[in-house]
Amino acid sequence: MSRGRRSVGSHAALLASALAVATATLPLTAQTAQTADYEVHAVRYATIPEFPVSSLVRGAAPDERMDIAMVLWVIRGGGRVVLVDSGFHRASWFDRFRVEDYLNPREAVALLGVDGAQVSDLIVSHAHWDHMGGIDLFPDATIWIQAAEFGHYTGPAWQAGAGGGGADPSDLVELVRRNTEGSVQLIQGDDVEILPGIRVYTGARHTFASQYVLVEGNEPVLLASDNAYLYRNLRDLRPVATFTPADTVANKAAIARMIDLVGDTSRVIPGHDPAQFRRFPTDGRVARIR
Ligand SMILES: [Zn+2]
Repeated sequence: MSRGRRSVGSHAALLASALAVATATLPLTAQTAQTADYEVHAVRYATIPEFPVSSLVRGAAPDERMDIAMVLWVIRGGGRVVLVDSGFHRASWFDRFRVEDYLNPREAVALLGVDGAQVSDLIVSHAHWDHMGGIDLFPDATIWIQAAEFGHYTGPAWQAGAGGGGADPSDLVELVRRNTEGSVQLIQGDDVEILPGIRVYTGARHTFASQYVLVEGNEPVLLASDNAYLYRNLRDLRPVATFTPADTVANKAAIARMIDLVGDTSRVIPGHDPAQFRRFPTDGRVARIR
């Protein structure tokens, strides 16, 4: 800043307008970095071995299999403990899938020193059993879910022939009960800041109205959940399984958008890729993403 003959008043005005211009041109992520300095961790609560990759990445070889990580994510800061997804614990899913190295999600977050009762907010990326199946383990949390996802999975998903679409009926009963208690926030669509510096986006159509989560800041993190299962979906721009086959185009577009939102593929965290526990500093089941 140059010193000179301008009066204090005009100097101050110049400074103010310079600041205004600087603020206006800062990317959104830098502006909101001041709102909360969140830590982000991934916690691996189980493994499902030898999962068919063709169910995760369209076009993969039919005989290719991999051990997938079952994960929930913890965002901490600004006096909040926010979970993205909640895992599962109901017995029937252990009959349907081979589950290894299982830890109840409430015990899993305790590895970070988080008591389940401290969880203030729980963002449900989508209504599938392995993401919404632990909401009853965090009874004091406000649940954040897309209004359209709530509407579909508490209604049409259970009509004759629809089959529930991968959701667990007990989770929907719990979700409706929590809503009657006033502890569910129904989010209206795409690009909504639900908490300071935490935004959700729709359009990937993994389920009827699945959402993904951007944690803003100088090092933004995008938690894709199953809108991108693996790093391979991101790298090769290959869609995941979607609500209908017609939605694969939307999923591909959403994957490109996720990368664009954070400017770098490495800052997008896929839903089931065990590599997130190699790419980031990891202690046992916990990876420090930020
Ligand atoms: Zn999943």
